[in-house]
Amino acid sequence: MIKVENLKKQYGDNVVLKDISLNVKKGEAISVIGPSGSGKSTFLRCINGLEELSDGHICVDEFDLADKNLNIDKFREKVGMVFQNFNLFPHLTVLQNITLAPVTLKKETKSEAVKLGKELLEKVGLLDKADVYPSSLSGGQKQRVAIARALAMKPEALLFDEPTSALDPEMVGEVLKVMKDLAKEGMTMIVVTHEMGFAREVCDRVIFMADGEIVEQGKPEEVFLNPKNERTQNFLKVL
Ligand code: ADP
Ligand code: MG
Repeated sequence: MIKVENLKKQYGDNVVLKDISLNVKKGEAISVIGPSGSGKSTFLRCINGLEELSDGHICVDEFDLADKNLNIDKFREKVGMVFQNFNLFPHLTVLQNITLAPVTLKKETKSEAVKLGKELLEKVGLLDKADVYPSSLSGGQKQRVAIARALAMKPEALLFDEPTSALDPEMVGEVLKVMKDLAKEGMTMIVVTHEMGFAREVCDRVIFMADGEIVEQGKPEEVFLNPKNERTQNFLKVL
């Protein structure tokens, strides 16, 4: 469903992604691990169409990012993104945060968007917070709203960039639970995370990135219990 071929991304002389290829099947949950600065966020941003590619191709279903006639808004609708710092709109209520894009970008009617928005809030356990502003929510609640907001666009896949890294430890579990449920329902997901337990338990495949390359990948038990590459071994050792 997502096909990355020989992706290269550089900022000036700094080559951040060096020839990355990856195929993601529909329904697959993949975790991406690796040291800070290895290009994980840049990789997700490329898949979401937020960065211009220096070389290579990224296709999601029949849409090719390199296609000059591509409707980038349509492309982004297919791939939702959840950020470390939630990025909720502070001046909108929780429900308004969720319905804004479906109404303005997808031209859904307000009542359709509100109906789905409430269903999604119920799914993430926050229906009672529909009319409050983000500032009154805990970090874990904000992140669950951010996930509901991404789902409101009915994406084919969701990208998560360290979704629990900004959270107090006691709130990590409630967000991982929502993500685990999504994976079980068959959502296609790529998750950059330091939560090795989540990667091991929930994901079909683990990818280890270092210095802008995919150094190693495999089933979680292979990568965690028997890493083949020395860099993977050293990374897992210091965790
Ligand atoms: P990670 O998410 O694995 O920590 P990043 O993708 O954030 O890594 O960063 C990889 C490298 O790309 C870093 O060296 C970073 O400085 C550089 N980089 C990221 N975004 C930009 C940007 N917008 N402009 C210039 N350099 C960037
Ligand atoms: Mg990052």
